Parts: sequence; C-alpha cells; structure tokens
Amino acid sequence: MTQRVFNFSPGPATLPEEVLRRAAQEMLDWHGSGMSVMEMSHRGKEFVAIHAHAERLLRDLLGVPEHYKVLFLQGGAIGENAIVPMNLLRGHASVDIVDTGEWSLKTIQETRKYAHVNIAASSAAKRYTCIPPRQGWRLDPDAAYVHICSNETIGGVQYHFTPDVGAVPLVADMSSDFMSRPIDVSKFGLIYAGAQKNLGPAGVTIVIVREDLLGHALPITPSAFDYGLQAQADSMLNTPPTWAIYMVGLVLDWIQDQGGLAAMERRNKEKAGLLYQYLEGNRFYANPVAPADRSLMNVPFTLRDPALDDAFLKGAQAAGLVQLKGHRSVGGMRASIYNAMSLEGVSALVAYMKGFEARHG
Ligand code: PMP
Repeated sequence: MTQRVFNFSPGPATLPEEVLRRAAQEMLDWHGSGMSVMEMSHRGKEFVAIHAHAERLLRDLLGVPEHYKVLFLQGGAIGENAIVPMNLLRGHASVDIVDTGEWSLKTIQETRKYAHVNIAASSAAKRYTCIPPRQGWRLDPDAAYVHICSNETIGGVQYHFTPDVGAVPLVADMSSDFMSRPIDVSKFGLIYAGAQKNLGPAGVTIVIVREDLLGHALPITPSAFDYGLQAQADSMLNTPPTWAIYMVGLVLDWIQDQGGLAAMERRNKEKAGLLYQYLEGNRFYANPVAPADRSLMNVPFTLRDPALDDAFLKGAQAAGLVQLKGHRSVGGMRASIYNAMSLEGVSALVAYMKGFEARHG
C-alpha cells in the first residue's frame, strides 16, 4: 500500500486518487491500443478521440457557448501574459488591468512589452487584501480588453462576482480557480488557465476565446501562439502536450462523476468554510483577507508568533500534511484546497491547527 499525504501545494497540486489509479491502469496499454498515451501520434485516431473527449467534456461541464473556441496550448499562464496582448490588441494601443496582487503584477509587467497599460483599479494600498469594488474602476472605453485575475493564488483573494465591463472584452487569468465553480462564459472575451491546479498536470494551458476576437494577431506572434491559427488547426498546429490533455480528460470525467461544477462549488465552499470558520476571530492564527473576497482555493494564514512557523511546518509534515509553507513574498502559511483536496484533508488540517494552538497558544 502506498501512503498518500494530504498535499496542500499551490501547484502542481494534488490530483484525485481515482484519476491517478486510472492513469496507472491505462499506462502501458490504452484501451487495447498496445501503447501508452505518451507514445501515440497526436494525429492518430486514438489521440484525436482523447482530445475530442476532453474538449467535449470541458464544454459540457462549463457550458461553453458554440461561438467560443477551446484551445489546448503550451506556455503556461505566464506565457499567456504575452500571448494575450499579441492576439487581442486588434489595433488598440492600451489595455486595462485590475491589480489584485502578485499575479496581476506579473501580467502588468509582461503586457507593458506590447501595449500601454492602464491600471484600472488596484488594491495595493490595501496590501492586496480585497478586490477593488467595481464602482471605483477607471475603465478606458478604447482599451483592447480588461484583464482580471479571478483568483490570486498567493494572496488568497478571489472574485465572487463577474464584473460588467460593457462592450470591451473581459479577459481572465483563471489559473487557480478554473473549473472550481460554474461561471457564465458568455461574459468573457477570453479565459486562460494552466492545468496544474484544478485540472491535471503542468504542461497544458487552456484558452477559451470568443471567435470574433480571433484572426488579429500581431505579425510578430509566433504561429504556435496565434489563437486564430491554432483554432483552425484544432490546437494541433504544433504537437500538443498529449499526456497532459489526456490527464485533463480523466480529471474532467472525475468532475462529472462528482456531479459537475455545481457540486464542485458546494464541496469547495464546505472545505473553505471549515478553515475560515476556525480562523475567524482566532487569536493565534490570522487571515488578512476581507471576508467577502476570500478565496475558496488558497487560504493564507499567519501564526501570531512567526518564530513558531518552523515547528508548525515540521509537525504538519509529521502528521502527513505537506506543502503548507506560504509564498516567499508573504511568508506564513498557505493551504491550497483545490477541487481534488478532500474534506477529510481539510478536517485533518484544522484538527492539527487546533492541537498546535493548544500546545503553543
Ligand atoms: N497566474 C496565476 C493566478 C497563477 O496561480 C500562476 C501559477 N501559480 C500563474 C499565473 C503562472 O502559471 P505558469 O507557471 O503555469 O505560467
């Protein structure tokens, strides 16, 4: 028997055990093909079916309208920070970005290589502990698009509303909350997400893009990152990350078996609720985020006395609770509790935190 830990890593993150077992079962001989998915031609009928299955399920579970393309690309979300402006400027000079933390800042830096950036709103003055209220955003009607990060993985701040930005396309980096809850895709011009948190292994980036935004890439855009060309080629302009796409398909099967995105959201609320309820008003641990904007995916918290951090982490590790160290930029702890983290895992964490508080508080 292998002993699996409760892995609170922010990404690559824990995957459902059922998915890993199925991948193991199918590893040497996928469905009688006599080969592993890793060994298949991406143009062969087996992989074409795997790819089509993943796309179909993603469309069904998320309710992606027909006039949106779903692309499976490479380059990660950091790649998209450059690829999005290269494709979406469409003759506009400027991009509106809402700054809610570290990942927004990365997007701002990268976008500046291609366009003027207008920071439409920022929670920097509030130490990134909230989402700036929509009423205060200063949007430019001539912007190419408005960019948000739906869940700041490091700060633990999440949008619990979809901002109305009028006719300008809304673009969202959903890397750390994609497929964790239902969303109305039609409110977005483009959504992108790396797979390695809620959806599978690192290596594939999902892009959902409204068709009218395709076909305007800057001439310097690498062909592999031209959404229009990739859409025409069914994401096979270059060799796609076949194994990662297969794994995403297995995770989507699992999400469907669990009851789809509404069920995922219920579970995620229940798990995050357990942790936040315990942190609320606690004098030993603290979470700085405004209650209305707390992330259901990443829960950062600090110990009253940072000198106890090492002891906390060592004890957690010994109890089978791993990867709880906060990001180096903010310190403290962070529990990432994506779709595949069980309620049992979060309960075990809360029990450990209570015990540690009792011993050191
Ligand atoms: N955006 C967000 C919100 C993220 O959480 C991450 C990864 N932690 C990234 C972008 C960067 O993703 P990648 O490393 O896959 O490029």
